[in-house]
Amino acid sequence: MNENYIEKSLRQLPSVDEVLRDGRVTEMLKKHPRSVVIEAVRAAVAGERKEILACGVTEQQDQKKEEYLYRVVEKAAAAVRRSVRPNLRRVINATGVVLHTNLGRALLSDRAREAVNIVAANYSNLELDLDTGRRGSRYSALESLLSSLTGAEDALVVNNNAAAVLLALSTAAKGREVIVSRGQLVEIGGSFRIPEVMAQSGARLVEVGSTNKTHPDDYRRAIGEETAMLLHVHTSNYRIIGFTRETSVSELVEIGREYKLPVMSDLGSGFLVDLSRFGLPQEPTVQEVLGAGPDIVTFSGDKLLGGPQAGIIVGRRHYIEKMKKNPLTRAIRIDKMTVAALEATLREYLDPEKAISEIPTLKMLTEDREVLDKRACEFALLLESVIGKGKAEFKVEDGLSAVGGGAMPTADLPTAVVAVSPQGISAGDLQAALRRGEPAVMGRVQEDRLVLDLRTICDTEYQLIAEAILQVLK
Ligand SMILES: *Cc1c(COP(=O)(O)O)cnc(C)c1O
Repeated sequence: MNENYIEKSLRQLPSVDEVLRDGRVTEMLKKHPRSVVIEAVRAAVAGERKEILACGVTEQQDQKKEEYLYRVVEKAAAAVRRSVRPNLRRVINATGVVLHTNLGRALLSDRAREAVNIVAANYSNLELDLDTGRRGSRYSALESLLSSLTGAEDALVVNNNAAAVLLALSTAAKGREVIVSRGQLVEIGGSFRIPEVMAQSGARLVEVGSTNKTHPDDYRRAIGEETAMLLHVHTSNYRIIGFTRETSVSELVEIGREYKLPVMSDLGSGFLVDLSRFGLPQEPTVQEVLGAGPDIVTFSGDKLLGGPQAGIIVGRRHYIEKMKKNPLTRAIRIDKMTVAALEATLREYLDPEKAISEIPTLKMLTEDREVLDKRACEFALLLESVIGKGKAEFKVEDGLSAVGGGAMPTADLPTAVVAVSPQGISAGDLQAALRRGEPAVMGRVQEDRLVLDLRTICDTEYQLIAEAILQVLK
């Protein structure tokens, strides 16, 4: 490359102003913010100039002005598309992990979504009692629904379960000691760790027992002047099996009565309907745990309950009243859209059978195996017809889904999957390309095949997935 070439090429390169006058760019300017388009054009021109100066591309030698203009506009258009695209966007979950924390956990029911829409678009009586015209509580409907569904004396809802645990500890045990079994010092993804939440709350952690065994007497021996509470944490995302002994909530309640100490149970993923008849592990419902007599129970809104992100606290009025007065409650309160979604979700539970068919999380978890098989066959046929047999092979197979969200870690749910073996590209590359697509599709790679689990895919997504795969394999 010589200087002449570089100079000649630079003369051919359109200026930013020239590009901005191009018809395609003026169209972009009508649709998108001016600053975004200008920035994209500047960057595209600068990029092209850099390439010329680096003499990187030999075939550029004879490029004409229109060719440069075309390339710059193409690059700018791609950059504009990237920058106006929202960062948070739809993902199709074909992983079979029903409560996928990275993918936003629970999907809301139709009713919950409608309720969110209404309060998002309109004024509402969030903190107004329409009967009296006086100030009302944003929690009032949630409190009465939670009390009637769980049998608790009172309830409170905060931002998430981590906040619920923090608030409960800070209210009932600040500056004093809380006794927990060494087998229950849970870490949830995203750095929620019981010892750290405890430290934040101002309560002091007293560990008792060993990882695999904690006896009631271990708690009794640790109780002293400074003890404020006995805490039971559901080991929601792991299991200790083999030579084990856990002190149950009801045993803790007994000890609590002996020593006049409150007992709290952090359930993590609490749920209101028993799903064991659908082959899920038998775990106690919130109602059953409350029946054992603890003073405070906390659980998440967006785990097995299948609602919005929230932390639900149910239990004795004495403690809940105190929590409501804690200034921390204001800092971790829920917004109106969460109130709306949670109220609608809880209303579904007034008819438990309907809840199972209406709440997406429950519907996916209890989906009939035969239905999954049938859907897998339909999906495989559709994939074949859209993509064509030459580009990939599609096989319906047995698979295993997971509950996810740190709940029921040992539950393997038999499912039906479609395994895609792409031609000329590895399953890993197909997986990565689908993840970057629009909409993004998330699948699992197994034995160099991309596995798509029907449990978390809905019928309306078949075509979108097929087109996304076709885009990659074309
Ligand atoms: C998931 C979980 C939490 C945290 O709940 P978030 O709603 O995610 O804040 C706390 N404790 C246990 C036992 C959990 O399983």
